[in-house]
Amino acid sequence: MKKKDLNEIKKLLEQQLEELLEDADKTASEMADEKANFPDPTDRASLESDRNFELRIRDRERKLIGKIREALERIEDGEYGLCESCEEEIGIARLKARPVTTMCIDCKTEQERQEKIG
Ligand SMILES: [Zn+2]
Repeated sequence: MKKKDLNEIKKLLEQQLEELLEDADKTASEMADEKANFPDPTDRASLESDRNFELRIRDRERKLIGKIREALERIEDGEYGLCESCEEEIGIARLKARPVTTMCIDCKTEQERQEKIG
């Protein structure tokens, strides 16, 4: 992969990571505020389900944060952009569209097909 492309992807990843971490911070402080502001049990119940929703989102965010960090590590190690399954280079267009990807489109398609079969 060209160094220029790699730098571009690194920036994308760092930017994405920063946004996710900011969101996570904001969600955490909003949750703390809401808890103090809703003494009524009914409101509290709806707040609880909101919070479950938040936690589910945050679970997904947390996984994404982990993937971004792994991708940044792979960049540092010079292993970024290789398919973890067939070890071929992953297409640059695919990497730019989804920088955390670890599989080339062929292997990913095959994996999804296998998952569908069960
Ligand atoms: Zn592959």
